[in-house]
Amino acid sequence: MKLTVIGFWGAYPEKNEATSCFLLEDAGTSILLDCGSGAVAQLQNYLDLHTLDAVMLSHYHHDHVADLGVLTYSRVVDINLKKTEIPLKIHAHKDDEAAFEKLRRPPFTEVTSYQHDSKVKIGPFTITFQKTDHPAPCYAMRIESSETNHTIVYTADTTFQESLIPFARNASLLIAETSFYADQSAEKFGHMNSKEVAMLAEESETKEVILSHLPHFGDHKQLVNEVAKTYSGKISLAETGKTWLL
Ligand SMILES: [Zn+2]
Ligand SMILES: [Zn+2]
Repeated sequence: MKLTVIGFWGAYPEKNEATSCFLLEDAGTSILLDCGSGAVAQLQNYLDLHTLDAVMLSHYHHDHVADLGVLTYSRVVDINLKKTEIPLKIHAHKDDEAAFEKLRRPPFTEVTSYQHDSKVKIGPFTITFQKTDHPAPCYAMRIESSETNHTIVYTADTTFQESLIPFARNASLLIAETSFYADQSAEKFGHMNSKEVAMLAEESETKEVILSHLPHFGDHKQLVNEVAKTYSGKISLAETGKTWLL
């Protein structure tokens, strides 16, 4: 299983970069976790758009779905150019029915809804969900591959909740939204600070945490130092193009 960071910024992308988007590849199947602003331009450094199999959306905030419309247009163009006949598969929740319905563009997209107890299978991947605590309905995802014993957990956007600990239990990699520094209150914005991320990573016995959804202020190295105070595993900052092989 290969993970590539396509975008990691919270809120908006910095120059030449993208907001939340991760590419997961295994056994010839490629899926995206979220499709933030700037993601489509970045993604083409790593794969041809017409070969992308599916997109998993955590929620409908712009920094997670901004490029989904243009990704859909790329499939419209590529199907018309006969580069592929396969629609882009989009998996999203229906808690916001209007936003969900906007994803439909047959025959270019194939849209499927998931809910908290769903088990989505795409190629070697099996994805399970947990609703997070965020101003817009949002779901964390736990991704397993039949090709490896490793597990990736993506918090998406959330405040710290105890229930995330068993959900992230023993993950090989935890992609954790780290929107604020340790001394800042993240909860009122529906996010986590570095201290809360450390607690989640430590208590779930995650092997490695990737700090993502990063803030546009301060020095991100400080986030790493703050997480290291509580968490004994490996800590990485999300970085455009950075990959993990599991
Ligand atoms: Zn959000
Ligand atoms: Zn966000």
